[in-house]
Amino acid sequence: MATQLGMPSASHAGDELRDSALRQLASAAKAINLDPGMHRFLATPERTLIVSVPVMLEEGRLEVYTGYRVQHSTGRGPGKGGIRFHPDVNLAEVEGLAMLMTWKCAVTDLPLGGAKGGVAVDPRKLTRRQVERLTKRYTAAILPIIGPEKDIPAPDVNTDESTMAWIVDTVTMMTGQHSPAVVTGKPVELGGSRGRTEATGRGVAFVALEVMKREGKRPADARVAVQGFGNVGSVTAKALAEAGCKIVAISDVSGGYAAPNGIDIPKAIEHARKHPQRLLEGFPGLSKISNDELLAMDVDVLVPAALEGVITSANAGAVRAKIIVEGANGPVTGDADRELNNRGVTIVPDILANAGGVVVSYFEWVQSRAGFYWELDEVERRLEIYMRRAMELVLSTAKTYDCTAREAAFIVAVQRVSQAIEKRGIFP
Ligand code: NAD
Repeated sequence: MATQLGMPSASHAGDELRDSALRQLASAAKAINLDPGMHRFLATPERTLIVSVPVMLEEGRLEVYTGYRVQHSTGRGPGKGGIRFHPDVNLAEVEGLAMLMTWKCAVTDLPLGGAKGGVAVDPRKLTRRQVERLTKRYTAAILPIIGPEKDIPAPDVNTDESTMAWIVDTVTMMTGQHSPAVVTGKPVELGGSRGRTEATGRGVAFVALEVMKREGKRPADARVAVQGFGNVGSVTAKALAEAGCKIVAISDVSGGYAAPNGIDIPKAIEHARKHPQRLLEGFPGLSKISNDELLAMDVDVLVPAALEGVITSANAGAVRAKIIVEGANGPVTGDADRELNNRGVTIVPDILANAGGVVVSYFEWVQSRAGFYWELDEVERRLEIYMRRAMELVLSTAKTYDCTAREAAFIVAVQRVSQAIEKRGIFP
């Protein structure tokens, strides 16, 4: 694929992502004095499947896409991880993301391993019917390695509950067995879990409130800025506002919106819901700010919940928040992370802060296998238990090892995965 001059190629970005996952593993391995053989084992995906995905777009026009499924580790349980449809999907990226899923499941103590999949395709160039055919053919191609006891996909970039419903249908038709437990993130009508859509944002809000409590900040006195007003950002803002925090700034791709006395979040959600592109654009009564200004606001808590790499060494100096909770994946770059930590800013890392989604995915898998579905309050109560336990362990590990919460999260995860593998022993 041709790349624009000066722009990193997709595979270069994928290499970066995998290298960064490997660096984080190496640093945790060093901290816990991990056996070098175990380190090599954890640095390598257990299984990689590359498939060709032919799709008859219309009569006589056959297109062929490349699909991937990587299982990084099944040491603690079946693989778990999303499927993305994006033109930049490549093997290095899928390997890196699969490894991160291993750590995310381990840090929250889910009995699951890490996996990821994807197809290099731009689904916006296809009709819905073509995407359905692509999904079903890709599912048939990876069927030998997925299943409720092997590897359980979920939605990711450009895939959603419809994609998951098509996967359930394909597996059911090909095996002759109704198979809702093969994926999570399904529609509730097909065995999806109540509370799954809100789970990530609720988890982000929960850890934000817990960290505030530890730092002696009452929610009623807390000023919060949230970047991104999609699934994660809007649910986080709503939950924090309900807990009594003052949300003084929100933003989306249309820009930032601020109000020193607090924003009416349910109204903002209603406004975005009615906007043709689901944006905050035109929301009345607020001052317009830029996304950069939002990041530099004088707030107690900043929640970047939009994109990766938004807080860098270039703008970290301007950040005035005392607590940063990473709603998005990778919003704070490595350099900025070090600088902010040196300044005493508490950063709750993504693999902990936004793990609520995978925790409720685990609940969905449990419910689908049991064929018994929980009420919403049950899901929310258990989500809190998992998030609290993970957060307490990460923060106490950061004290023990005198390291950042991010390093501590990797230490907890690598320790748990390596101990499970050691207890099983290397087969045969
Ligand atoms: P989403 O598509 O629902 O929302 C993204 C939001 O970011 C939108 O409001 C969009 O307008 C805004 N945005 C885009 N570009 C922006 C920019 N330049 N400046 C400011 N805002 C901008 O996505 P989401 O599901 O809320 O995911 C957000 C982040 O959280 C991603 O990094 C995702 O990988 C991560 N994440 C999501 C989940 C989940 O369950 N949805 C779980 C874990 C991690």
